[in-house]
Amino acid sequence: MSLMLDDVTKQFGSFTAVDHLSLDIPEKQIFGFLGANGAGKTTTFRMILGLMDQSGGKISWNGERIDYSKSDEIGYLPEERGLYPKLKVRDQIVYLGKLRGMKKSDILTELESWLERFKVPDYIDKKIEELSKGNQQKIQFISAVIHKPKLLILDEPFSGLDPVNVELLKEAVVDLKEKGTTILFSSHRMEHVEELCEYLCILQHGKPIVHGGLRDIKRSFGKKNVTVHAD
Ligand code: ATP
Repeated sequence: MSLMLDDVTKQFGSFTAVDHLSLDIPEKQIFGFLGANGAGKTTTFRMILGLMDQSGGKISWNGERIDYSKSDEIGYLPEERGLYPKLKVRDQIVYLGKLRGMKKSDILTELESWLERFKVPDYIDKKIEELSKGNQQKIQFISAVIHKPKLLILDEPFSGLDPVNVELLKEAVVDLKEKGTTILFSSHRMEHVEELCEYLCILQHGKPIVHGGLRDIKRSFGKKNVTVHAD
């Protein structure tokens, strides 16, 4: 189940958002995309998911193009969170799980175990709009993983979370990797990438300025040179 990007480019008119990006993303690992605002991380994810066509190059997952809307093997936490504020947590997750072909009883078992893990077991009957932003993000995370995807794409999963919740989410990400999930995530912050990823790509103005194994990159460039500021 390897994910390949071969010379991928995205143009918006004459503006190049992603510029000749080639990556061979190893399975069952955590791969980080690091870059400042506008570097092209979200655009890259949308192209991988088949939500947006690339202008040039090829993308394949296990030899085929991903169609996120039809695949039960992919999980996605978008940067712009998309929960229904008026729904209860239970109804929101059951709805999304059913779209992924799950049985209601399995969805509820999974949901209860995630809520327990995220230390909010009594949130199942709360409306989304009653939850804090950080807790909504936990629910959004659960909605991305409820169907146990093989490939999980997390766009800025830690943004807006307090340190305790960042740790909870990080532990969940590592645990999913250990269970065999291939995980891609984006961040502005080197420390998140450094702590979680074996592999990374640093994007700057759509160009991959460096990619590969974290240890090799540090060895070649020195830690100082791979720090990217969200400027
Ligand atoms: P952020 O952390 O701010 O989300 P990012 O690295 O995810 O940044 P992208 O959202 O991929 O960056 O955007 C890359 C560039 O492409 C930006 O300059 C953005 O304005 C531009 N862009 C993205 N989507 C479109 C679009 N639909 N039309 C025109 N330009 C776009």
